[in-house]
Amino acid sequence: MVADPLSVLSRVFGFPQFRGVQADVVARVLAGERTLAVMPTGAGKSLCYQLPATMLAGTCVVVSPLIALMHDQLRAATAVGISAATLTSVDENRAETIARLRAGELDLLYVAPERASGGHFRELLAETKLALFAIDEAHCVSEWGHDFRPDYRLLGPLMDAFPDVPRLALTATADAHTRADIARQLGIPADGMIVSGFDRPNIRYAITPRDQTTRQIADLIAATPGPGIVYAQTRAQTEKLAEALGRSTGRPTRAYHAGLDAAVRARNQADFVASEDMVICATVAFGMGIDKPDVRLVAHAGLPKSIEAYYQETGRAGRDGDPSVAHLFWGADDFARARQRIGEVEPERQAGERQRLAAMGALVETGGCRRHVLLRHFGENPTEPCGNCDNCLGSGTAVDATETARKFLSA
Ligand code: ADP
Ligand code: MG
Repeated sequence: MVADPLSVLSRVFGFPQFRGVQADVVARVLAGERTLAVMPTGAGKSLCYQLPATMLAGTCVVVSPLIALMHDQLRAATAVGISAATLTSVDENRAETIARLRAGELDLLYVAPERASGGHFRELLAETKLALFAIDEAHCVSEWGHDFRPDYRLLGPLMDAFPDVPRLALTATADAHTRADIARQLGIPADGMIVSGFDRPNIRYAITPRDQTTRQIADLIAATPGPGIVYAQTRAQTEKLAEALGRSTGRPTRAYHAGLDAAVRARNQADFVASEDMVICATVAFGMGIDKPDVRLVAHAGLPKSIEAYYQETGRAGRDGDPSVAHLFWGADDFARARQRIGEVEPERQAGERQRLAAMGALVETGGCRRHVLLRHFGENPTEPCGNCDNCLGSGTAVDATETARKFLSA
């Protein structure tokens, strides 16, 4: 290995410098050290394995939870000239991909986690020169995480069959407890974690009780030029909001949810990505893998299910670094519904879910700096009030803490 990472960064990816902790993560990976990188959404996690994949001999196997996400990544990698392929249940060119893999032609192979369970896949890997295992969205391995996927559990044992292949796990959303769990399950040493700052200083956070949701959000949209995302609680609500907000604000609006015809969904998404003033009213199905830097507003019409989800969804605002707004509207009935939902999950997951709801409640009810609550949740220790949230700006609405606590804690 002779090239240096910085020259590869500019030559292959066209970026003049590394961002944040990227350089540290890449250095560890190139040194073969098992690593867990915790970096916020939009920080550039993909590059942390894509760049080493182009420098190391052999193939980097990337595990990613969503097929759509994988295909986006594949397109992006191929566009910069990296030789990459996906191996999923929907791919038709399996035989060709396997032949390329065996011939050592692939820098990156994207696979779905359920692959890991098959003995065939293990045999295939045994015949392959492996450069690196990259586990994207690694919080999926933990029941403490907000998006547990049982198939991720098989990845530790799979990688253990190849103990000499370096490992890189990546996630945007992990509190200290989840982080430790991810590291343990994926065989990463406790000192192999690199955690980058979670602060998104250009996002102004605000949280307000609902009274007339549509009017409140319409006012917000009127005050916030540029593209916006409104997260609704139900599919029906996305369509109602898109219609009502379009009418009352005069802005172009679209709905987005998993129940829409695939072609309509794809068109709405593409229209939004291309637009400079559209508001898309969506369920949480919208956003993953969408790289739109100039989103100026993320509004929530109801309570997200955890601080991790809130952070990830609001994190889609202002990736270009320009001032942006994240405004959450909540009601006591959100807490009631959340409690009901928690009552329906498997008993062993209820404690974790209740804890997540309580953390969300604490964010909603705080009279102090919102950013502090968020950053502390991710293990940071901010000192100065941020000056860029509703409470710091004196525009926050006081909430009766005792009353709220009663609402979300009484099960
Ligand atoms: P994440 O997975 O952390 O959410 P991505 O890997 O999708 O983030 O990257 C987000 C965006 O940042 C992409 O458009 C990517 O090309 C860009 N990016 C990554 N690294 C750099 C860099 N060093 N300089 C400039 N842009 C970068
Ligand atoms: Mg990513």
